[in-house]
Amino acid sequence: MRVYNTLTRKKEEFVPIEPGKVKMYSCGPTVYNYFHIGNARPFIMFDVLRRYFEYRGMQVTFVQNFTDIDDKVIKKANEEGVTYDVIAERYIKEYFVDAGGLGVKPATVHPRATENIDEIIDIVKTLVEKGYAYESAGDVYYRTRAFAEYGKLSHQPLEELEAGARIDVSEHKEDPMDFALWKAAKPGEPSWDSPWGKGRPGWHIECSAMARRYLGETIDIHSGGIDLCFPHHENEIAQSEASSGKPFAHYWMHNAFLNIDNQKMSKSLGNFFTVRDAAATYGYDAIRFFMLSAHYRSPLNYSRESLEQARAGLTRIYSALDNVRFLSENGAPGEMSKEEADSVQGFDGWRSRFCEAMDDDLNTADAVSVIFELVRAVNTVAGKAGVTRAYAQAALAMLRELCGVLGIEKPETGNAQEDAEIEALIEKRQCARKSKDFKEADRIRDELKARGIVLEDTPQGVKWHRA
Ligand code: AMP
Ligand code: ZN
Repeated sequence: MRVYNTLTRKKEEFVPIEPGKVKMYSCGPTVYNYFHIGNARPFIMFDVLRRYFEYRGMQVTFVQNFTDIDDKVIKKANEEGVTYDVIAERYIKEYFVDAGGLGVKPATVHPRATENIDEIIDIVKTLVEKGYAYESAGDVYYRTRAFAEYGKLSHQPLEELEAGARIDVSEHKEDPMDFALWKAAKPGEPSWDSPWGKGRPGWHIECSAMARRYLGETIDIHSGGIDLCFPHHENEIAQSEASSGKPFAHYWMHNAFLNIDNQKMSKSLGNFFTVRDAAATYGYDAIRFFMLSAHYRSPLNYSRESLEQARAGLTRIYSALDNVRFLSENGAPGEMSKEEADSVQGFDGWRSRFCEAMDDDLNTADAVSVIFELVRAVNTVAGKAGVTRAYAQAALAMLRELCGVLGIEKPETGNAQEDAEIEALIEKRQCARKSKDFKEADRIRDELKARGIVLEDTPQGVKWHRA
């Protein structure tokens, strides 16, 4: 597989540190609100990356943190008159509701900043000892100029970064480009004991600490949105590499922005839609499919039209899946026809084209096109009279395999008990029709219709779906 590495600005062959294993770290949400569609982009796209590695037989350790202490979390807690952990706990729970809806698998570990204070203090201490950091009035700052390679991820020397950055000038800093590793406690704020007195960690240090604790000093892939490249990831590199003396991450992967009216969707601009709200309108699955339809490094515009288009695309895939699922039980018994066997023979070709797209820096847009072409090919064969169960089963397995890699899955509606009731009613209606009791048959059809169940009579029997 080739991935675009922000560090080298090239697509490179992905070679893991340990064969067959991948160590990935992705920056997670700051938990003070529901997350928005822009935040969902890295969550979904790096979930796809992880799923694809797993599909290719790799063992993935995927770490995604929760920033559970920072100014925004504290502000929200103060507004509500509760402690910071009440806010963090609430929005971590809500994260899992939305991420689950979006088909984002839980990471191997979801560590929280406040559960890693010892690890954080340990790295800060090392940086101070090595001369990369200094204490000043209870704060500890990173001495940016001490790290010769600072700027290597953004490909800009320190001077240029300095000119472009909104620098937080502080009387406690030696240099405006220095950044806080540890912040002295302010009255009324949560704090932890440290060698520099009570305080709390700066933002950047938590990722260096959690990556080291859960993945080791050198990891394969570090990912996040492109806005994190500078200063967050640049600072992570400075902290991790200065303290360990080793490379931090071999590959840096960044997704482009999710825009709205060609402007970055962000909480601070106020131009955001939460995933919770958008899912109520379009469905979680349409949001995921919308993301998959673009390459992760291309900007993507959020609009009603694109979400509706995603819904229409999904409907095509779901109805093909429903059809072959039905035929896999109700199709003709016996051997496949020549045309069916040829179609199945061709599945390897679809699989390789799908993998080729994914191997090319996770080109999900092309991978989705391959699925659409496969759907068309399967629909043609499965639409013929006398289609066999054997063919339908093979087609179902093939479609499920590729959809599974992208996390495309029809959400469960209703429950097993309700499904059983519906099937019993359909069976009853079939009996009524056989004994020519059409009144009863129609009554059952109407009853099902009232429950939102649509029946379709096919040569292979009655198919049903929810309207
Ligand atoms: P935050 O909670 O703001 O720290 O962001 C969590 C993740 O969402 C980070 O990886 C950000 O880079 C990413 N992110 C935030 N806004 C956008 C956006 N509009 N488009 C793409 N990614 C974003
Ligand atoms: Zn981070």
